[in-house]
Amino acid sequence: MNNEELTAELHCSNCDHETIHTLVYAGRLLVSTTCQVCNSQVKHEAIDLRLHYLKDLEHRIATKPRRLLRRFWRAPFSSAISLPKKFMSQPRKIWSEIKSILGRN
Ligand SMILES: [Zn+2]
Repeated sequence: MNNEELTAELHCSNCDHETIHTLVYAGRLLVSTTCQVCNSQVKHEAIDLRLHYLKDLEHRIATKPRRLLRRFWRAPFSSAISLPKKFMSQPRKIWSEIKSILGRN
């Protein structure tokens, strides 16, 4: 899983005003924010990240059957064709996300 970078205007405690920050995301989780003016970086603790990720994953797994069912009722014919493939590809995708998060230093 590749990290994604976004920029946003946030308050920097070092500069003490609004500056452009680089936000680094792993999936949907914020890993770090870096002020582009003074370069001060806030890293989100790996352990927090892991706990947050596991909670997020738990929620995704818990709500998945309902989400898939909802999609099925909206378009039963096309879902019936694409559903088995989606079911098959999910565990691998989730596993690669877990490896990426747990392998983080
Ligand atoms: Zn700053």
